[in-house]
Amino acid sequence: MNAPTPTAGHLVLHGVSAGYGNVRVIHDIEVVLARGSFAVLLGSNGAGKTTTLRAIMGMAKVSKGDITLDGKSLVGRGTRDIISEGVALSPEGRQVFASLTVEENLLTGCLPASGWRHRRTRLAGVYEHFPLLSKRAAQDSGTLSGGEQQMLAVGRALMSEPSVLLVDEASLGLAPVMVEHLFELLAQINKAGVTVLAVEQNVAVTHYADHVYVLEQGRITMGGATADVAERLHRDIASAYLGRSSPTPDPTGPTDPQATPRDHEGDPHE
Ligand code: ATP
Repeated sequence: MNAPTPTAGHLVLHGVSAGYGNVRVIHDIEVVLARGSFAVLLGSNGAGKTTTLRAIMGMAKVSKGDITLDGKSLVGRGTRDIISEGVALSPEGRQVFASLTVEENLLTGCLPASGWRHRRTRLAGVYEHFPLLSKRAAQDSGTLSGGEQQMLAVGRALMSEPSVLLVDEASLGLAPVMVEHLFELLAQINKAGVTVLAVEQNVAVTHYADHVYVLEQGRITMGGATADVAERLHRDIASAYLGRSSPTPDPTGPTDPQATPRDHEGDPHE
């Protein structure tokens, strides 16, 4: 697959508030995606994850702050224009056209001005990442499994040759083994030079990311390198469920009388 321009794909949300009509859903969001980075935005139902992605895509009204791609503001611009600048969205619920074939669905992701030769090159690039879609090219998309439809939704977003790929809840409704497979593919796409922002409720996928942000009731409450955020999340969970009064771990060892064996297993992604 053709790597995007190496200088492209630096996305910044600076003090962004956004919503629908007069309703503000997200407030003062600060997110920095360095070029070629892979970030996960974690949040529960209704936290504002989709709204954050929609604000980037020009589909939710930004009332405050700025969103820039490689230093250029995206605020106030149309969605098609934002896609042309290099941002693409794989939407929540996949939204593939069930009665179109896999290849026809992929072609809907191309920029309108792209010629046939360019479309063939893009298809080849997507099939390289998703060989299964190549095998199913002529099949109606409605007959695909949930995991295959999710691959198709990501593949369709890649057809516009983005430098930044936004993925809304890819893991929703999929078996854990399929979630792992999908995120391995996203990691490959990221290694090929595409900046990735995945919004998720599934903490298990954070180990694919270099940065993690936590969104609660429309506000970022935590953000940083994955290992740091994972440790803080683990401490918060311990504090909430095991009744620890101090959020600071004792460096001399496990002397907490309430500690259980689970405390010391050390997997922050559980
Ligand atoms: P989920 O995982 O359930 O999709 P989310 O974190 O993606 O949750 P959003 O879809 O961004 O959350 O929704 C956040 C809030 O914004 C919710 O309270 C929702 O009711 C509200 N909301 C979403 N879309 C609209 C809309 N078109 N008009 C008004 N309010 C909306």
